[in-house]
Amino acid sequence: MPSTRTANRPSKLLDGAVGVTTPRSVNEIFEVLRDAVVSQRLSPGVQLKEQPLASAFGVNRAAIRQVLAKLANCKLAVHRLNRGVFVASPSREEAVSIFHARRVVETAIIELAVERMDAHGLRELRTIIAQEQAGYLSGKLREASKLSVQFHRTLAQKAGNSVLEQFLEEIVARTPLVVLSFNVTDNLGCEGGEHAKIVDAIEARDAALAVRLLHEHLGHLENKLAFDEHLQPDELERAIFHSLGSAND
Ligand SMILES: [Zn+2]
Repeated sequence: MPSTRTANRPSKLLDGAVGVTTPRSVNEIFEVLRDAVVSQRLSPGVQLKEQPLASAFGVNRAAIRQVLAKLANCKLAVHRLNRGVFVASPSREEAVSIFHARRVVETAIIELAVERMDAHGLRELRTIIAQEQAGYLSGKLREASKLSVQFHRTLAQKAGNSVLEQFLEEIVARTPLVVLSFNVTDNLGCEGGEHAKIVDAIEARDAALAVRLLHEHLGHLENKLAFDEHLQPDELERAIFHSLGSAND
């Protein structure tokens, strides 16, 4: 098995993409690829070759280079000298830093959410949790883990501080890469029950409880990571196959 794989299967990348038309603009292609990382369809270490991507999206290589530069700006991809561009594989230090940053940023977000969350926002969060739990129960793990990320993003939107929201956006988009790099257990996502308890605490306007539950929740995610085993791309493929199963392909 080669040590790196190439993202040259457009149908896989376009799975779950919004709409039926092929994305053509740099921003649209960027969104598709970012979504593929967030929903764990693109794994750490996968090579992002210009020509197959250009063919897949029906654009020229210059457009793909712009997309890859945007992904690198968000730390979702890395340029390797004389080798090309690859989906980022966070180091242990980066993984620890990402979780530390999540705790700091999401603490501020949740304190604001306790003050500002309205009935509409609570309903929206509970709808996401219901869909997320249904996804995990029916074995649609990729869709469910995407909804887990969506829960944290929506919480940030509803807190009403766009700068914090932007910080969180970058951090949560990188979390799936950390999870895929270091997680070898079957459960790759958030615990939906924990999301529900956090929303209950927000609704009760209990900031101390909401923050404590959030820290416990992020602690549980971080504790799932097997930091002793930084998987190589071919090992990752096996781990993902084992974890997600072919039913999600
Ligand atoms: Zn979560």
